This record gives sequence, C-alpha cells and structure tokens, in this order.
Amino acid sequence: MNNLRFTIVADKEEQMRIGNELNEAFQQAHITNYDSQEDFEKSVKLYNCDFLIARETLVNKAFYTQLSPFLEITKIPLLVIRDAAGTQLFKNQVVRELIKDAGNNYLKQLPPLITQIVNEQLAVTGQSKILFLEDEEIDIKFIRRKFIKLNPQYECDVVSSIAELRKQVGEKKYDLIVSDFNLPDGTAFDSIAIAAEADIPIVIATGQGSEKTAVELMKSGAADYLIKDKNMGEHMLVLPSIVKSVLNYKKLEAYNSGLLDMLRIKNQDLERFAYIIAHDLRSPIASAVLLIDTLQMLGSNLEPDMQDIMASIKDVSHNITNTIEGIFQYTVLDSQADAFVKVDMTRAAEDALKNLETKVNECGAIVKIEAMPQIEANYVQMVQLFQNLMGNGIKYRGDKIPELTVRSFTQGNEQVFAVSDNGIGIAKENHKKIFEIFSRLHNSASKYEGVGMGLTIVKRIMERHNGRIWVESDLGMGTTFLVAFKAVA
Ligand code: ADP
Repeated sequence: MNNLRFTIVADKEEQMRIGNELNEAFQQAHITNYDSQEDFEKSVKLYNCDFLIARETLVNKAFYTQLSPFLEITKIPLLVIRDAAGTQLFKNQVVRELIKDAGNNYLKQLPPLITQIVNEQLAVTGQSKILFLEDEEIDIKFIRRKFIKLNPQYECDVVSSIAELRKQVGEKKYDLIVSDFNLPDGTAFDSIAIAAEADIPIVIATGQGSEKTAVELMKSGAADYLIKDKNMGEHMLVLPSIVKSVLNYKKLEAYNSGLLDMLRIKNQDLERFAYIIAHDLRSPIASAVLLIDTLQMLGSNLEPDMQDIMASIKDVSHNITNTIEGIFQYTVLDSQADAFVKVDMTRAAEDALKNLETKVNECGAIVKIEAMPQIEANYVQMVQLFQNLMGNGIKYRGDKIPELTVRSFTQGNEQVFAVSDNGIGIAKENHKKIFEIFSRLHNSASKYEGVGMGLTIVKRIMERHNGRIWVESDLGMGTTFLVAFKAVA
C-alpha cells in the first residue's frame, strides 16, 4: 500500500517513532504532524488525509465529538493510541484503538493494523471511480504510471475526447472526472458542462502559465485545477491529495444538504404540531371560560373568598385563551401560502384601527394615520401587524391618554412604516428581548395584560416579507416600532 496520507497528533518523540515506522512500511507515505490537539484544531486540513493517528492523552472527548461527524462522513479512520486497555473510548466504526506497551512493540503492530483498517474501509465504501479525459500520449503515460499504478484504491478509466466522455459518463457512475484543457473536439468548458449535468465533480489539468484560465474554470464549476508539468509529470504527485479533498468535499456537501432537508422536515412537523395543539385546544378552553362565567353568575351569593377564587380562575383561563390564540395566529402564519398582492398600507392601518375600536374608545386614544404608499404584501398579515403594534401603543400607555402616529418614509432602498406612541417606553437593554416568544417586561399581576406573542408574530410576518423590524425607545420616552420592506425594483 503506498501513497497514503497520514495525519498524526502526538508529542514530538512519538511522532518520530510512528513516522519512521510508517515510512518504512508504506511507500511514499505523506505525513503531517501536530504536537497538540490545539495545534491540530487550528491548522487542521483533514480533507486530503487518508488516516488519522492520535495519542489518547492528546484527544479529549469534546474534540472527538466535534470531529466525529466529519470522520463518519468521509470514512477517514482514526486510530487512537492508548496507554492501557479500558472501556472503549468512542463507540464508532471508524475509530480503532491500539494499546501502547513499555517496549514500544506496538509500533510493529501499526502497519499491519493500518493496512487491515484501510482494506476494511475500502470493502465498505467501495473503490472511488475516476474518469480521466486526456488525448496526449505522454500525459496518458503519466496518468498510468504516476497515478493509476500507485493508487490502487481508485478504479480508473481513460477516454480521449469530449464525445467519449459523454458516452462513458452515461454508461458508468463516476465519482470524479479529471479533464485536460484542450481536447480534439472541444475544451475543458465542455467537460465541465457534461460533469455538471451528471453531477460529478471535475478537476481540470491546465498548462503552465494559464492560471487566469484556471480561475475562469473554477468560476464555471470546476472543483479544482492542476497545473501540468509537461516534462516530468510531477503534477501527478499532487493529484491524490486533490482527488481526496474533492471526494470528501462532495460527501460533506451531500451530508449538509441532507441535514438541511431534515431540519426543514422537522420544522414543518413542529409547526404542524403547534398548529394542531392550538387549534384543538381553542374550543375546549372557550367552553371552560363559558362555564366559569355561568358559574360566577349562578354563584353570586357565594362567600367572598369563593368569589375571589372564581375570579382568579377566570383570569387564568383568559390568559390560556390568549396564549393559545397567539400560538394559533403564529402557526397559521406559517401554514399560509404567501400570496403577495398590492396592499394599500393606509387602508390596512385603518382596518386595524377598526378592530381596536373598543380599546380606543375605552381610553380616548388619539390615533393619526398618515397617507402611506402601497407595497407588495399579504393583506391580512399587514392588518395584523398594525393591529399588534397599535394595540401595544394603546395598552402600554401609563397614565396618559395615548397618542399614536402611523406614518411611512423611504430610507435607502427600503420603505419604512413607523408606529409611534407616547406611552411608558422600553429600556434600551430590553430592545432585543421583547421580540422573543413569550417574553414580557410585565408580569401577569401587573395592570398590563398579555402573553408576549404580539411582537413575535409581527417579527415573523416581517421575516416572511423579507423585511426587518426594530424599536426606538427609552423608559418614559414613548416608543416607535419600525418595519422596513425592501423596495421592489
Ligand atoms: P404582550 O403585549 O402580550 O406582552 P408583545 O410581544 O406584544 O406581548 O410585547 C412584548 C413586551 O414588549 C410587552 O410585554 C411590553 O413589555 C413590551 N412592549 C411592547 N410594545 C410596547 C410599547 N408600545 N410600549 C412599551 N412597551 C411595549
């Protein structure tokens, strides 16, 4: 077995001992040494490594946990050298252990163990398949002599034209293509197009002095490039490292997109779950509130203590109703398709005000809605947005008669809408916190009723509109909530 790339994390002396052993046992072993875990973490370039060897004393569990998914995906084996046998350190197929002994006999066990592990991995993962596209005789010779022969872990084929490449890719599933730049029936840009169609990573071999072309190639989708050494074929020696990194990168990419898909599904499940809970709890809670009302009416001659308890039960039930209503509104947002239409924001604010009529009349609030422009948005959500912000402006009024202004202005490429009040204000340190779900600056015993969902809903609406929300306020200074939408070109 030759051309293996080792990464060793151990102290200097041990690095030497292991290094000597590896160099003796494996032809052209490439060894990268790290003295400590920190050193390794800082500079680690594991993409092109075949085998990782680490001293138990230098690899702690936290580090391993961090590294583990990477090793699992890339199937890079990790051999931990331990001082003494004990409970298995890490439960993992890719991690093996070797027990160190006083006479350093363990070193002799290293090469056969490594060979065995690499072969086992190969049996599991199968050989990666590489297709070379090269038309010049001398380069084909280099490929055969300096890559294929030395890297039996890869199954390699060679074709010499774009037409053959197209045919071959259709017949066999390759993990990587390595293409020359100039070909009898086209250039590497054609190879890149074919590779992209078949979703195979591609590395291009270009002539010296063509770094600029290399950049163009990378831009159009090549995974990497290789500058050819026409006389000696020395470039073939760096190819294994490039091959390894491209293959590992591809695996990690697939893993990442798998994780994202999983996350998306989990989020959908969660939203669906919250929706069902909120939806199904709405009517039993409403019935309970109704029963409590009836009970209160029937029991008007009850002891004062009992009446107090009844009143508390009613308060609690109201709170539950409001919470459920909030969760319901929030989850409904996510189950709605975003049908954006031209929305007259003045009308949306006026509709919101109508919904708040009782509250406005209760305290004699003065609300001024200025003329505002139209934007592309979801109408129902815009009404809800204004309703929540204006509702808060009225609610958190302190001792004053609330005065609210709703207006709009442009700022850069954004259309901003602002709802200002003359109420109690919000301390600067709470400007972030208030947007979190169930976050309130007043407890339920205070005169301000609420469950802490209003602003969470507004923030979610803004996320769905690709916009942002922030607050300008300080204690006793009144509050302005601002929402900004990107102007459509
Ligand atoms: P809720 O009003 O149900 O508590 P919100 O999410 O709407 O929930 O608001 C979160 C918190 O932010 C409120 O509890 C309140 O402390 C503060 N807040 C929101 N709007 C205002 C405002 N206009 N003036 C002062 N404080 C506000």
